[in-house]
Amino acid sequence: MPRRKLSDDYLHLGHRRRLVTALRARGIDHPPTLEAFGRVPRHWFVPRVHEARAYEDRALPIARGQTISQPYTVAYQTSLLRPAPRLKVLEVGTGSGYQAAILGTLGMRVFTLERHEALYQSARTLFADRRFGDVRCFLRDGFRGLPAHSPFDRILVTAGAETVPPALLEQLGRGGVMVIPVGREGQVMRRITRADDGTLSEEDFGQFRFVPFLEGLATEYERREGP
Ligand code: SAH
Repeated sequence: MPRRKLSDDYLHLGHRRRLVTALRARGIDHPPTLEAFGRVPRHWFVPRVHEARAYEDRALPIARGQTISQPYTVAYQTSLLRPAPRLKVLEVGTGSGYQAAILGTLGMRVFTLERHEALYQSARTLFADRRFGDVRCFLRDGFRGLPAHSPFDRILVTAGAETVPPALLEQLGRGGVMVIPVGREGQVMRRITRADDGTLSEEDFGQFRFVPFLEGLATEYERREGP
């Protein structure tokens, strides 16, 4: 794929400011998260045909039948995660890379996993020059996490999981926070916290709808699907 020319001008900046205002009006009240939304050009993460809609508060289709999550959902998950600079965060479901770019812009050390090679490749290209900070992409089954780099301070799952994968719980360090949408059809947003003594606690937040968390790397059949 030829490398797409990435431009970002005052019109995009204006769209981003309006998006930040809309997110604040919907209840997102975490200033660093809002600031990151003001900085990351979402239009670089959506297919060119949808570029004009990049700053609407809605999910959009990306390659391989997946979606870039709605900005409100990204902001909601990010603020639940209690992000902070230098924390090590594992993201499951790189997709477009937009959520990873937000976490990187917040100064976190990001490890992001994707099961579709095409999505992994295009995200890797976007992060190569480190303009969004320290974001490392891996073509891996998120069900297994990334044991070589564990434990993580934060784990963020951006696909709907029927159950919480045990490997992810194991890789959540002490004092760590995991945010994961759980459920088959719709998902409840769950925050799991591991206290300093190792015990786990859970809190449930609102209902969302995500593409499914599927076990294993994408099959040959799935790879041929979609654009
Ligand atoms: N965070 C993404 C959201 C993409 S949708 C963004 O900002 O655009 C969720 C992504 O999770 C999809 O790309 C899907 O392929 C991926 N996914 C689903 N199950 C997975 C698994 N087991 N391991 C890794 N990625 C997975």
